Amino acid sequence: METKPKLKLYEKLTSALYFLHYDVTSQVLSFFIHKSCVENLEKLAEGNNLLEIYKNKYFPEQTSYTSYLKTVHGFNDCGKVEGIFGNFLKISFKLLPLYTFTEEICSECKGTGKHNVFDLNCNQCHGTKKELVFNREPLLAITNTISLLLALLDCYIAIYESDSSFEEKYTESLYVIRTITERDMNGHAMGGSMSGFFKKAIEDYFNHSVSAGKSYKSISGESVCCEQVEKDMEQTYKMLMANPFATKSDLHSITALVRDGGFFYLETNGTNGCNFYTSNQGMNTYWYKGKDKGLPISCHNVDGPLQQIILLIGLARLSEDIILS
Ligand SMILES: [Zn+2]
Repeated sequence: METKPKLKLYEKLTSALYFLHYDVTSQVLSFFIHKSCVENLEKLAEGNNLLEIYKNKYFPEQTSYTSYLKTVHGFNDCGKVEGIFGNFLKISFKLLPLYTFTEEICSECKGTGKHNVFDLNCNQCHGTKKELVFNREPLLAITNTISLLLALLDCYIAIYESDSSFEEKYTESLYVIRTITERDMNGHAMGGSMSGFFKKAIEDYFNHSVSAGKSYKSISGESVCCEQVEKDMEQTYKMLMANPFATKSDLHSITALVRDGGFFYLETNGTNGCNFYTSNQGMNTYWYKGKDKGLPISCHNVDGPLQQIILLIGLARLSEDIILS
């Protein structure tokens, strides 16, 4: 029997304002923005001086920014404009590790790869025996570029949402989010709201999974684990941390699940719970203002670019699995 090739998200969601996509094989996080608003975004960026504000406030002076209608896009040219796919402009960000290996021997374990007290890998080189150099600037360039894109999209919504055609144009939008990029505690907080359309898709996915016996009971209620999403988050976390030997216990915080009522919950490694989730409380944005029956999206303790990227990947993968299921 012939199997139909699986649709891509941009083929399925023809009328979303924007959405994220993540390819775990190439480790590329992509932004799909509806082509109907691209020209307006460019005008907004220039007219409101947002580029300058973001550049000056969040980034060192030597940082460059290239506009998104060129072949590269973003701070330090971190993004690549891939062109139009269906109704969307695709901008991709190749993720690079926070640590790079040198030819030097690890200064902590002196090249044994072992912890000096416990029977564990050295916690500096993770058992690789090589000295690692930390550099989070490439990842910060990506999170800052994403913050700016999301800010522009938020401005676009605020200006055009009262137009009669706005709702019709973007009926399949999944979420509206905002992120920040500060070099500080909680400096990568994020939030927003989820549409009624996406909420319904999660509810259907949840109910279907429960009927198929794929749910489990937890202290927070009946839950469905999104295993493939967790695997992709784990694999990317290991890559970004340059820790090929990370075990399940090193990655125990990584969680992706959905619950009844359209709730999702994503968590990654961090202090006292670093998570991103729909709740009954949150920022007063878009759908939550009463547009339809969506839900607010909130976060807890998202301190740095690593955590923000892993949670965004979780959202991208979770929404893709659910919408295409
Ligand atoms: Zn070492």
